[in-house]
Amino acid sequence: MRERRETEVNIVYLTTEAVPFAKTGGLADVCGTLPSRVAGLGHRTAIVMPAFRSVHQSHAGVEPTDISFAIPMSPRKLVGCRLLRGRLPSAQDVPVWFIDQPQYFDRESLYGTATGDYPDNAERFSFFCRAAIQAIQRIGWNFDIVHCNDWQTGPIPSMLAADQNLSPALKNHATFMTIHNLAYQGNFPKSEFEWTGLDWQHFNQDEFEFYDRVNFLKAGIATADTITTVSPRYSEEIRTKEHGCGLEAVLENVSDRISGITNGIDQSVWNPKTDTKLAANYDAKSWQQGKLANKRALQQQFALEQSDEVPMIGLVGRLAEQKGWDLILPVLRWHLGENRPTQWIVLGSGDAQFEHELRALKEEHPDRFALHIGFSDMLAHRIEAGSDIFVMPSHYEPCGLNQLYSIRYGTIPVVTPTGGLADTVVDHNEISVADETATGFHLHTISPQGLDDAIGRALHLRYHHPQQWAKLIETGMTQDWSWKKSAMEYESLYAKTLALKSAAKRTE
Ligand code: ADP
Repeated sequence: MRERRETEVNIVYLTTEAVPFAKTGGLADVCGTLPSRVAGLGHRTAIVMPAFRSVHQSHAGVEPTDISFAIPMSPRKLVGCRLLRGRLPSAQDVPVWFIDQPQYFDRESLYGTATGDYPDNAERFSFFCRAAIQAIQRIGWNFDIVHCNDWQTGPIPSMLAADQNLSPALKNHATFMTIHNLAYQGNFPKSEFEWTGLDWQHFNQDEFEFYDRVNFLKAGIATADTITTVSPRYSEEIRTKEHGCGLEAVLENVSDRISGITNGIDQSVWNPKTDTKLAANYDAKSWQQGKLANKRALQQQFALEQSDEVPMIGLVGRLAEQKGWDLILPVLRWHLGENRPTQWIVLGSGDAQFEHELRALKEEHPDRFALHIGFSDMLAHRIEAGSDIFVMPSHYEPCGLNQLYSIRYGTIPVVTPTGGLADTVVDHNEISVADETATGFHLHTISPQGLDDAIGRALHLRYHHPQQWAKLIETGMTQDWSWKKSAMEYESLYAKTLALKSAAKRTE
């Protein structure tokens, strides 16, 4: 066996998403990057995730192994699976283990279709949790930290605590539960609890039970040794009624072991100086010409009116209520309907009603509004580079990545001061101008008018104070949002958790 350094920690990340294998949102960006950055600090990391269809299609060198086993999902249902093995393309020393169970995971999408969630999600993800625990014990390493992510892995800390037969691989482990989005909890009818394979004694108020239903995330929060969110502000907000999604009391109960670590961004992928998806590369010194070339390319690609002067306002994100489309749509209508001098570009997919309204606006104003419904990584990069302003008026935002990409690409973010948006975008005001920290604009009231006002403040600065506008861009572009700082914060929290755990063991 490989020798371990004294300070080295072995961490396994359990997740349903990791770039480049499976992605629906920011969870994939985090789990595809954090393990390699933590490994870069001298630790040993691995990922375990389901072999979704996108994994088979990823062409990222996924190989079968000869490890297979079965899980008794019910007295008459034994479900087999085998392990596949790959590596993070960005970090060859990080193995990724996939649970291959085609009936559960080889489907069109990860969690459901446009008509709703898959009806057997409690079964599918209970299976994933149970199989992942088996997989961890067959990989051949001893793990110190089992790092769970979001509701799909919420049952794992309880399952580990209840398991009397854990192998030495997990003998001294501690558990982490990271909440990437509290709104998604894995909340199912009580009868679905059976799939976890746990004794009904775990269906209690301090674990899985939530108003006589089963709640996977609640169990994870209540039983993990350490709980984190993806920004400090969000870790506080979710303990309030307004943002707690019904779990505020559960979160308050664990307030001594919850904290927030802001996500980083993968600066090798999101770097305007080297980004091969762009029409032109640029940096904090050459952004004027670089961004203009990218704007012209977008105008050409979408047959918008060609104009260097007109400000381009960009949006990329899920068409979900969370992202503030109820604020965006009226503002978009005002700008387009009143012929205000702005151009807009939207990339997104999701809710059919928002999609319908956006399509109708596109029909009416094809020369001032570019719309792409669907998922396009290429276009996401191009919008970040070619826009002057990026709008992100989320009603809540655990961390948010797009505002960080915007800051990096010299595109001024206009955001709601909530969660990670509040933690990462500094509002332009007298104080932040004086201390040269301003990087964007906050909505001062959460309404369409509030959004329009914030965009108006941004446009005013751009037209009337171009030097201050340039200062905002250059301040943001030279900030460091790399994963290094976040990875170091996780590293110290892993060490602290392990120290507390072993101290508690000594006093047992
Ligand atoms: P969330 O995880 O809530 O969806 P984040 O801002 O944290 O929001 O992360 C979203 C990620 O998904 C970003 O990398 C963003 O660029 C990407 N993304 C979202 N929608 C699309 C889309 N339609 N096409 C391409 N990328 C998208």
